[in-house]
Amino acid sequence: MEKDILIIGGGPSGLSTALHLVKLAPHLTDRILILEKEKYPRLKLCAGGLVLDAENILQALGLDASEVPHVDSETIHFDFAAKGLKIRVPKRHAIRVIRRDEFDHWLAKKTEERGVEIRQGVTVKKITPSEQGVLVETDQGNFNAAIVVGADGSNGMTRRSIFPKDPVYTARVLEVISPAYSPAHGNQEREHTAYFDFFPVPENIAGYVWDFPTQVHGIPMRCWGVYDTNLLADQKRPALKDPLAKEMKRLGFDLNAHEIKGHPIRWYSPQNKAAIPRVLLVGDAVGADVIFGEGISIALGYGNIAAREIVESLRRGEFSFRGYKRRLVRSGLGQTLFARWLVAQIIYTLKWRWFQFLLWRILQPVVIFVAWTFILNWSKKDLQH
Ligand SMILES: Cc1cc2nc3c(=O)[nH]c(=O)nc-3n(C[C@H](O)[C@H](O)[C@H](O)COP(=O)(O)OP(=O)(O)OC[C@H]3O[C@@H](n4cnc5c(N)ncnc54)[C@H](O)[C@@H]3O)c2cc1C
Repeated sequence: MEKDILIIGGGPSGLSTALHLVKLAPHLTDRILILEKEKYPRLKLCAGGLVLDAENILQALGLDASEVPHVDSETIHFDFAAKGLKIRVPKRHAIRVIRRDEFDHWLAKKTEERGVEIRQGVTVKKITPSEQGVLVETDQGNFNAAIVVGADGSNGMTRRSIFPKDPVYTARVLEVISPAYSPAHGNQEREHTAYFDFFPVPENIAGYVWDFPTQVHGIPMRCWGVYDTNLLADQKRPALKDPLAKEMKRLGFDLNAHEIKGHPIRWYSPQNKAAIPRVLLVGDAVGADVIFGEGISIALGYGNIAAREIVESLRRGEFSFRGYKRRLVRSGLGQTLFARWLVAQIIYTLKWRWFQFLLWRILQPVVIFVAWTFILNWSKKDLQH
């Protein structure tokens, strides 16, 4: 089967690429095909924290994320050992928490409603780019495409095929869902608050423990997890679940009473490659944010940049994608990814207790300034064009 633009993966980056293509060049709509190996609603391990930029990008696409079941947190805490910085965003929630099975299903339906074909339950096995096009082999037959978009996530086949020898920077992540409250502690005061605690950094876990309010099928729950960028992987570290167990215990929960799930997150480093002729990558396949492993807004943002690159390439009739990385680096998305990479090198490698204490408890105005200038609000620049 012939298709001009074949997108491998129907997560936020693949769906956003299709939605932006339709917005920028409606005549391309029936020339796009998305292949997704699972069937919606499919599980995706993720805490589901949507930041302001994710909602801004969806809004610019004419989509309203409040249609998806969600829990809003009015406040976010960035703590070191249970005390630190408290953030609120004027006149709105600080973070919205969705479940990825529901969110991705909703986004896929919106994409289909705009005329894009999604084939579910089709696994891409191999891609072979040539000067004439890309042969895409799947468990259900072959496709020929002029352009392939690799939106198949952190462990995706597309990136592994086109850059088999490149270094891969990944974070380790564990996640647990528990009831909203502990019978022993109550924890009602945590109801509308999302917590990030960086106490494991001095123990060489270059990341944090989180807990967010969430819901599962309408029932209030709490999502917990531990994130480690692996930036201190050459040092002696405790087992990844230890700090998570410690934090849960402090708040009256027993980690061992719940199912623990893990998944890597590939993060953005300036060295990460993004394209070869006829194939470009989006979302985790290029890299998510390294500081938090925040990747939903980032994946949605990649879709905007990739769609612009594709539309221009089709206009020129030239598919080298030589300019894609440059376009990415110059965008608001590229700038925040670079800034976050730089900040992560500082906050996680200066791992001493006194530094972490200083950072999260004393230098609060500096942290807020850096966050507001370099970390949040990046999508504004990309949505102006
Ligand atoms: C534990 C954990 C917690 C997280 N918490 C947050 C959070 O709170 N907030 C946040 O912003 N980010 C979070 N993230 C990161 C976020 O989940 C990712 O950055 C985001 O999902 C990236 O989107 P994507 O579209 O690039 O990839 P994915 O969401 O991984 O989508 C890839 C899609 O490709 C499909 N696919 C894969 N291989 C093939 C194939 N061969 N053929 C066809 N289809 C294929 C998959 O089924 C999937 O649907 C978290 C990640 C983890 C692991």
